Amino acid sequence: METNSDTFEKSGDMSYENVFVSSGTVRRTPGDDDTLPSRLFEILKDLVRIASPSGDEDTLARHIASTYFADGWEVRVDEYANLVAVPAGQVGDLPLLTAHMDTRPVWGDDIRARLAEEDIISLDGGTVTKKHPIQCGFDDKAGIAIILALKERLGPRFKVLLTTREETGGAGVAYALADEQNRGFFAGVPFAFTIDRRSTSGSDIIHTYAGLKMCSDRYVEEIEAISAFLGAPMAGSDRGTMADCYQIAEAFPIPIVNLSCGFMHEHTPKETLDFASTLDTFQVVERCLREQTRLTEAARWN
Ligand SMILES: [Zn+2]
Repeated sequence: METNSDTFEKSGDMSYENVFVSSGTVRRTPGDDDTLPSRLFEILKDLVRIASPSGDEDTLARHIASTYFADGWEVRVDEYANLVAVPAGQVGDLPLLTAHMDTRPVWGDDIRARLAEEDIISLDGGTVTKKHPIQCGFDDKAGIAIILALKERLGPRFKVLLTTREETGGAGVAYALADEQNRGFFAGVPFAFTIDRRSTSGSDIIHTYAGLKMCSDRYVEEIEAISAFLGAPMAGSDRGTMADCYQIAEAFPIPIVNLSCGFMHEHTPKETLDFASTLDTFQVVERCLREQTRLTEAARWN
């Protein structure tokens, strides 16, 4: 049975359960608004303008902590410059979102100054264009931008881990996982998303790395179903390259996947960002967080 946005909007019950189960896909979702693309882009540009090659993420980490986590959050930047944030005073098990702040190191006299230019990237008719043919670090600043925009949209209702040194072997996340101060942080997380996958081959939900299955089949199926419902289909895959989620899954029984977020040709001056895909992933994760009970149930290990 097919439904359309009109039916959806006029429906008396806007809940995902009622509409989703019997419907096809809809493009619009409750809460859609026109300010999201510009706000998401604004955040992305703010992040891109602060250079953060692996091992030199401290400035960016402190900027994010003071600018985006000032109200309603307990935030900490550790010795490795990882940023760990939890909703202030909240008890209970909350989902976890992760991304990495470092970019593949690029050495050059003027790269830092170029990135800092006010118009280093611009949003033209839904497309992100770069002022210079240089690596802007969409891997993984697109992932961070999604998380920070979700935080603004949903308020303090999930945990955040922004790591360092991911591009040079993952020393940042390894430190965070071993840090005694984070013992409570990683406990009781019902499900998690790393947002750090390229979109070259479509929109992936990476659930397995090197033979390590990081979550239940049902968790992946639920994300696939939600993304299809939103008209932004993502598909489960085991073809990913290494990311922080692998180390998280090795250390704790947290159901986790790595989601595509729009970047392509990463680690090169030719990198691009499919901003429509970035927005799609935002919508999918937002819906998953709004459906926390449903996702928690699906993510439960059999
Ligand atoms: Zn990455």
